[in-house]
Amino acid sequence: MDDKVDFCGICAANIPGMNAAYDLYQMLCDLQHRGQAGAGISTYDPGRKILLRTYKRTGKVNDVFGGDDEERFEELMNKFGASIGIGHNRYGTSGSLSTRHVQPFERTHGVYHKWFSFGFNGHIANRKELEENIKKDGYHLMLDTDTEVMMHYLSKHVSDTGGDLKEVFKMVSEDFDGAYNIIFLDGKGRQVAIRDPWGIRPLSSLQTEKGAFISSETCALYRQGTENIRHIEPGEMAILEDGEITYHQYAKPRRRSLCFFEYIYFADVTSNIDGRSVYETRKRCGEELARIETQNINDKEWVVIPVPNTARPIANSYAKAIGVPQIFDEGLIAYGKGRTFIDEGDRSKKVKRKFLPIPSVIKGKKVIVIDDSIVRSTTMATLIKYHLRKLGGAKEVHVRIATPPIVAPCYYGIDMRSFEELIAAPYQEHINNGIISEKAEEEIARIINADSLKFITHDGLVSAIGKDRDSLCMACLNRQYPTPTGQTLDAKNYKSFCNRSMCKK
Ligand code: SF4
Repeated sequence: MDDKVDFCGICAANIPGMNAAYDLYQMLCDLQHRGQAGAGISTYDPGRKILLRTYKRTGKVNDVFGGDDEERFEELMNKFGASIGIGHNRYGTSGSLSTRHVQPFERTHGVYHKWFSFGFNGHIANRKELEENIKKDGYHLMLDTDTEVMMHYLSKHVSDTGGDLKEVFKMVSEDFDGAYNIIFLDGKGRQVAIRDPWGIRPLSSLQTEKGAFISSETCALYRQGTENIRHIEPGEMAILEDGEITYHQYAKPRRRSLCFFEYIYFADVTSNIDGRSVYETRKRCGEELARIETQNINDKEWVVIPVPNTARPIANSYAKAIGVPQIFDEGLIAYGKGRTFIDEGDRSKKVKRKFLPIPSVIKGKKVIVIDDSIVRSTTMATLIKYHLRKLGGAKEVHVRIATPPIVAPCYYGIDMRSFEELIAAPYQEHINNGIISEKAEEEIARIINADSLKFITHDGLVSAIGKDRDSLCMACLNRQYPTPTGQTLDAKNYKSFCNRSMCKK
């Protein structure tokens, strides 16, 4: 629960004879955790003069769609309503927070197949190279966002192929390096969703009698049904037509590289990603942390608390696994739905504002505080010093973390962009076989003012996820980036980090 993520959520609905705007709105609400900076929808109606219509604004979904103003909500649903549509939640990986950066991005054109709207979830690692190439082709870039670059490549390939969408996305897969799941709708009413060839971000589909649905996460599909959910494969395209879904392999799959962080932190706890439950994975993380526990824990002096909300199932199962389930309790309360990474500015102040301790639970106790991860350490350091020790009166604070030390940046969409900002980056040489040395744990514990610190091991994490290690991206833990640009950036940036004597021997 450190301040670290900028993702997006995408969804699509194709429900003949009904207004999909209502379902898109609900799906966006259910994907709110993936992006809170802006939201929007594009719909297609052949009976409308303006075939494709897009409505988008900055802000949370509910506010974007009228807030408490029911009349405004109905007005928007009617004005932008149609049976086919796509939706997007944004927390941008690049670009400032203005409406023009919010997706879907619509490219208006007088020719049906060249008029399209799309939204994407991910981050393009080779954006710079793509920008240079497209500029050479005479394109002008106005916005500081990879979505604009993607729009120009889509336009170019739509023109080059005469609008053959299978070919368009095959060409896109040859250009783009990184994480990119896309929902796309054009002026002919054709609607597709694609998952990138590495499968870095999740994407799922649902077929019901009512129609066809796509979502970044299954949590936004459940209201339509829990049967017939299908996880879209890397390099696969879902084609939505007349309420039915068909599938097509538009690009050769690469090494499957699902981001492990989706399970541990980012995805909703109710979601299922590629056949594995997020909730069950988090519970298993708690068991793995219990397995490596070295403290002698009893129910008199100790209490186990989660940093809300992600770590709750982890802490609960940890307490059960060490054999004293009665010591699991709530010691911290998070206020507001916002996450600390959403705003810029003084992170520590925001953390202070966001939480309050429950002194009756913590006071005089040896507290085991469990969190999903430590990135920069601002959140944990503030919680320990201010909330747990000063306000809560904890006697000791022992930190247990369900992600191994994060030692390298992410080039695929999580806001961990440089070695310098990562508290564990200097300790790469201290990690052997996925286990960090005690000396390094002690040093980091001192920095965050904890009495002890333990990270889950790489093996423990993989076992908790229950998937083949080779099917996961764990590059921020082991620097094994799945894509060529990730590997190039890593070689360059790590060398520069070490040249500045930042690595601890
Ligand atoms: S580098 Fe880390 S955060 Fe980024 S996609 Fe890979 S596993 Fe996820």
